[in-house]
Amino acid sequence: MTDTLRTLIFDQSSCRAHLVHLTDAWQKVVANNSYPAPVQQVLGELVAASTMLSASLKFEGSLIIQIQGDGPIRLLVAECNSRLGLRATVKLADGAEIPETANFKSLVNATGKGICAIILDPRNRLPGQAPYQGIVPLEGESVADSLEGYMHSSEQLETKLILNADSSTAAGVMLQQMPQHGGVVSTKPHDADGWDRLKALINTVQSAEHLSTDTDEMAKRLFWEEDPDGLAERQARFECTCSREKVGCMLVSLGQAELDDALSETATVEIQCDFCNANYSYTREDCNALFTDDAGDNSEPLPPTLH
Ligand SMILES: [Zn+2]
Repeated sequence: MTDTLRTLIFDQSSCRAHLVHLTDAWQKVVANNSYPAPVQQVLGELVAASTMLSASLKFEGSLIIQIQGDGPIRLLVAECNSRLGLRATVKLADGAEIPETANFKSLVNATGKGICAIILDPRNRLPGQAPYQGIVPLEGESVADSLEGYMHSSEQLETKLILNADSSTAAGVMLQQMPQHGGVVSTKPHDADGWDRLKALINTVQSAEHLSTDTDEMAKRLFWEEDPDGLAERQARFECTCSREKVGCMLVSLGQAELDDALSETATVEIQCDFCNANYSYTREDCNALFTDDAGDNSEPLPPTLH
């Protein structure tokens, strides 16, 4: 099976692990954009992380990780919804040159001004309700380091991440310490060393093995002595949520004057989706209709990068 996510519960250790192995879904992200290899690696790791973080939340909606970089990468976005539909995109600085040896730090935190935001956008968000957003300065040498730092400072949740990606596969293991059950007397004794032992186990994962091993096999290799409870395997997929309606709202938010300006130079306004490359074309008539239809009153905020 491809594009799977597996969750394991280590009850006695009060820990939970997620494993993800993305091939088809990740290759669709790659196919939509031709990024240099070091950029692909960083984005793939972010996609794997967003899938596991999304799966770890009891939340109906989309989890969006945005890294605003100060180097050749200006923006990295990985988004995963509660059905494990994922999409991702990168914005490079104008004229950016990416050396083969570029690493996470040189790509997004060259002068230490990078920031990392995690946004939770509920599926049935009420009009005017803002999505939840946490922002921390970017720290660490890798995507995994930075997100561990985010989870520690923003969510007070100890998290250990192993992330790997190349042009065909994005893979991750995430270990999280869970709050111990309050008030419920467990029949099993608490294993105080569990966190350290599980962390040591996932630290043994090597990149090549990780990329070539599915979640089922990886879970067996890592945790065969631990006897965790496994939840049903879940399927992830590439899924873009762009639509003509959302693009229309975005155009309305630009204002009629700006659209008139654009239309004085070309016959149509063309908007391309950053995530899936879908093209939306608006003639002058289409644009005028946006401002006269009821749809024009829709004041729903924009998705974070569709502008
Ligand atoms: Zn799209």
